[in-house]
Amino acid sequence: MKTQKMNRKQFVGSTLLAGGALALVGCKEEKTAETQADQGAYCGLYCGACPKFTNGECTGCKGPEETLAAHCKECEIRSCAAMKGVKSCAECAGFPCPKTEAFHNSGNPKGEKALANSKTIQVVGYEKWLAAQAVK
Ligand code: SF4
Ligand code: SF4
Repeated sequence: MKTQKMNRKQFVGSTLLAGGALALVGCKEEKTAETQADQGAYCGLYCGACPKFTNGECTGCKGPEETLAAHCKECEIRSCAAMKGVKSCAECAGFPCPKTEAFHNSGNPKGEKALANSKTIQVVGYEKWLAAQAVK
């Protein structure tokens, strides 16, 4: 009888431990998604692939206001998308707008890349696109 009680205790203990472990896994996934979200720029570029971002010299255009690079502070795409509350311009009903088109047609290869990524985001969704970038 005593042995049975111990077994129940052990069972309850192990269930609690398993629950705790699952909760931790859940936290880790949330943290990862949060971190990844910071690496997708509003215009469609993936900051996580940039050496400046990975060396910690840049926090990306979704970083805290006080650590933003000068070009991010001046970027009209960033300020507009942040104000509209979209994770990506590709999610904006007004996309492509004159601001994004100016970037896409600027002759800068990053503009072409931003357009190509934005088109992909419109098809697969921001989260799936971001997850695919993170494993590249
Ligand atoms: S162009 Fe603007 S939106 Fe795109 S990464 Fe640079 S600061 Fe961010
Ligand atoms: S209006 Fe243009 S710059 Fe602003 S969020 Fe929409 S697509 Fe991006």
